[in-house]
Order: sequence, then C-alpha cells, then structure tokens
Amino acid sequence: MDIRSVGIVGAGQMGNGIAHVFALAGYDVLLNDVNEDSLQKAVAIIDRNLERQVSRGKVSAKDRQAAMGRIRTTMTLADLGPSDLVIEAATERETVKQAIFDALLPHLKPETILTSNTSSISITRLASRTDRPEKFMGFHFMNPVPVMQLVELIRGIATDQATYSALHAVVEKLGKTAASAEDFPAFIVNRILIPMINEAVYTLYEGVGNVRSIDEALKLGANHPMGPLELADFIGLDTCLAIMNVLYDGLADTKYRPCPLLTKYVEAGWLGRKSQRGFYDYRGEVPVPTR
Ligand code: NAD
Repeated sequence: MDIRSVGIVGAGQMGNGIAHVFALAGYDVLLNDVNEDSLQKAVAIIDRNLERQVSRGKVSAKDRQAAMGRIRTTMTLADLGPSDLVIEAATERETVKQAIFDALLPHLKPETILTSNTSSISITRLASRTDRPEKFMGFHFMNPVPVMQLVELIRGIATDQATYSALHAVVEKLGKTAASAEDFPAFIVNRILIPMINEAVYTLYEGVGNVRSIDEALKLGANHPMGPLELADFIGLDTCLAIMNVLYDGLADTKYRPCPLLTKYVEAGWLGRKSQRGFYDYRGEVPVPTR
C-alpha cells in the first residue's frame, strides 16, 4: 500500500501539527476544516513552527519551503476523496466524528485507509459504522506533534494486518516511534497519565500539598520534566476531565472517579493555558498558582 497523499479533517491544535510533520516527511497534505479562520490560522502556525525549526538548525530553509508547498486547504470535505490516507482530527465529540465519516465515505476510494486521532472514543465502534472496518485504525499523535516522538497505533477488532503495517511504515517515515495499544478506554499513555494527574488534583483537594509543592515534588522527587498540575493546564482541564469520565464509564471502576476539584475548575471555565487560568494564572508575566 503506497501512501503519498494525506487528508486531514480538523485544523486545530492537533490537525496543524499532523499536517506539519506529514508535509515535512514529503507527503501531499490536504487540510480540511468547517471554519475558514481555523484553516488560515493553521497554515500560519505551521509556517511559524517550521521557521523555529529552521532557526534551531533542525530543518533546512529549502525543506521548510518544500513542506509549505505541499500543504493545501479546503472547506469541502469531498475534496479529500482521492487521499490515500485520511486522518480525522476534529473536535472530540462522537457525533461530530460520526457526521464527518458519514459525509466523507461516499467520496473515498475503496483502498483509502481511514483513521481517527481520538484520545478516548472506541475505535471499534467508530469503525463499525463505516464501510471499511478492516481499513480503519486509531492513529493517536501526542501534543505538540512536531516535538513528541510517540504515536499510538490502535487496532479495532476488525482492523487487518495490511492496514496496521501500512500505518507502521508511515510512522517510521515520519521519523517517529509507534506503540501498539489495544482498543480499550484511553489506550496506554492517557490510561496511565490522566489518573496520575487526577490523583495530583486529589492531593491538592485534600490539602496534602499546594499547587507549587505538588509540582515541585514530582519534578524533583520523580524526575518528571513538568509537574502534574502544570501538565494538566497544558493539556486542558476539560480534556483531562473528559478522559477521566471515559475511563470511569468504560472500565466501570470507582478508582477512576474524577476529583470534584477538577470538575469545579472546569465549571469555572478555568481550563488551563488555553483560557489563561487553571491551576496557575497565566495572565501576568509569570504563572501564579491559583491554590
Ligand atoms: P481543537 O479544538 O484544537 O481542533 C478541532 C478542530 O476541528 C477545530 O478547528 C474545528 O473547527 C474542527 N472541526 C469541528 N468540526 C469539524 C467538522 N465537522 N469538519 C471539519 N473540522 C471540524 O482540538 P484538538 O486538540 O486539535 O483535538 C482534535 C482531536 O485530537 C480530538 O479527537 C482529540 O481528542 C485528539 N487529541 C488531542 C490531543 C491534545 O492534546 N489536544 C492529543 C491527542 C489527540
């Protein structure tokens, strides 16, 4: 299976990072979004991030220019029909993803591999509602995509070996490393990482430590490059809460109950860096703990 062209649905945080690494690896990229503004922003962000890589000597000016030349955008989903590979990276809501697949499938060539970058939705369930469950996989990139080395490959129950092998080869061409995960809630990385963050929020909630002491403790005591609360702000507290709920519902085990304090921050709209306030307040020169 020779993959040359890649269609990406959703030009947000993940979609633009995925477009960046594919274009740099030589693939033709067609980026789709329902929002024209998101498409324009995505192209500007990719250009800026590539420029940063050039200034750090990681990418040559020529490669940057070639990569930008391989990225096109469209608001018409049907334009992705001839792509060899489609990566859905739209908003994390099952109804949104379902509607995208329903609208896209009639335009796709039969051999196209269809994937989703979902962090938590069942790959088997998404695949079962398409015309190609054997050519459907979870293709889970980490944020920020140009920086993070790992990609989780998640097979649904029906995914065939040819599809898995084709995507494994793509990950290698991107210069990244694949980890295979079975299709159970939150896969590997988030299954371990998000409950750790939730436990850090419990530690704060119960007064065992404050924001600063908890983050310092894990950085200096466990050699983590970032404290768990700082990391939660980076991921987005709404995303952390949504993943805890997926674990709680999907595994039916009370050890995954979300901390009430995490729910409270989300209710307040304090979602972390993206809303300028979470466990830290980012509105000033330096982040200040909010508890
Ligand atoms: P985001 O909110 O930054 O971007 C989502 C984009 O999808 C937006 O630009 C939105 O306009 C677009 N969109 C919504 N409906 C659409 C439609 N019908 N057709 C085309 N585009 C549509 O979200 P994100 O953080 O980039 O997350 C995207 C996906 O990646 C989610 O499934 C998420 O679970 C997954 N993911 C996120 C992270 C992360 O750290 N943010 C990490 C790994 C995976």
